Amino acid sequence: MNKLGRLIILSGPSGVGKSTVRDIVLEKSPVPLKLSVSATTRPPRGKERHGVDYYFFSDEQFQETRRQNGFVECKEVFGRNVWYGTLRSEVESHLAAGQWVMLEIDVDGTADVVAQYPDAITVFIAPPSLEVLENRLRSRGTETDEAVRNRLSRAQYEMERSGFYRYRIVNEDLDTAVKEFCHIISQEVLTGEKND
Ligand code: 5GP
Repeated sequence: MNKLGRLIILSGPSGVGKSTVRDIVLEKSPVPLKLSVSATTRPPRGKERHGVDYYFFSDEQFQETRRQNGFVECKEVFGRNVWYGTLRSEVESHLAAGQWVMLEIDVDGTADVVAQYPDAITVFIAPPSLEVLENRLRSRGTETDEAVRNRLSRAQYEMERSGFYRYRIVNEDLDTAVKEFCHIISQEVLTGEKND
């Protein structure tokens, strides 16, 4: 029988540099990773493309997919009627074919996925401190004061709930964070091989 792939779940507060770390890890990973594209009901931002950054669903489409059990997990991430969900079609057939799949989802979604896939490799990317995160968010210059405060309170929420992640990377320096992440993947590959 084909060996199953593994799930890698990446989370961390907004502003921590998660997507930058993710994109480099996708290139440099010691095993090829398929990035799972989530569905969301929020509108596209900037250059985001349907099917690449997200599947942009209407509320009806999203709820219909949910009724048909099309999600591994789904959440109203900011509690404001905006939904995000991990599609089964982005995960199950790929794992069955032996591929490793990376999800980038929030802490609550991660808890749901871990309940279904206990061997998922969970990685939380943390800022050196909340003060550093605040400085990074403010220096972007694109956020209103209220938006920065919202993101910080969400960051605190996520960090308080991140104790169950298997790995924690503090993103002080991008190169070091990427190296640590790739090292984690290599270790997990070796452990998997030993257990065969
Ligand atoms: P954004 O709207 O900035 O792209 O993402 C906001 C948050 O939603 C991020 O913390 C991201 O990790 C989370 N997110 C993205 N896709 C999913 C998903 O499929 N499920 C869950 N639970 N969270 C998601």
